[in-house]
Amino acid sequence: ALASIDPRDWIRDVPDFPKPGILFKDITPLLGEPKAFRAVIDRLAEQFAGRKIDAVAAAEARGFIFGAPLALALGVGFVPIRKPGKLPYQTVSLEYALEYGTDRLEMHNDAVGPGQRILLLDDVLATGGTMRACRDLVQRTGAEVVACAFVVELSFLKGREMLKPCEVSSLIIY
Ligand code: 5GP
Repeated sequence: ALASIDPRDWIRDVPDFPKPGILFKDITPLLGEPKAFRAVIDRLAEQFAGRKIDAVAAAEARGFIFGAPLALALGVGFVPIRKPGKLPYQTVSLEYALEYGTDRLEMHNDAVGPGQRILLLDDVLATGGTMRACRDLVQRTGAEVVACAFVVELSFLKGREMLKPCEVSSLIIY
């Protein structure tokens, strides 16, 4: 039964990816096992089922993989957040700091707005920089962020601190 599935069993540690010294949490085994993939989406959906949510928003690329099925499970729309130059219509964008240099994320400017309640989702919470940029982008439109949800949280990187005072919710915590 789905209740007995432990999604951790389908998360693989890959040492030295993408750089020496980094132990990467590879979620592709989980995507390849429908029982585990479904268990993850069901549990995320259960967690937020009683909350008032107007849309799920997630950043490419791995955020899309979990964000779209979660949106369908909750019966709400999905809003893609993308790297620069990918979205065809007018966008709002936000530049954010990386370890070296900066990056930018964009969202259609009619995708979310004042009065809307948005659930943000990503596969992994590491330092929190990516999710913080997503949160700031959504909030800048006047929309409210209900919570930042993750499949996996690497708690030793203290990403939660970066997201204060937002609600942070993770299925699997290492
Ligand atoms: P952060 O911005 O929190 O440092 O990094 C989070 C982003 O990088 C997420 O979008 C996530 O997809 C990716 N990421 C960072 N570390 C890992 C990891 O160990 N495994 C996976 N699958 N993604 C990671």
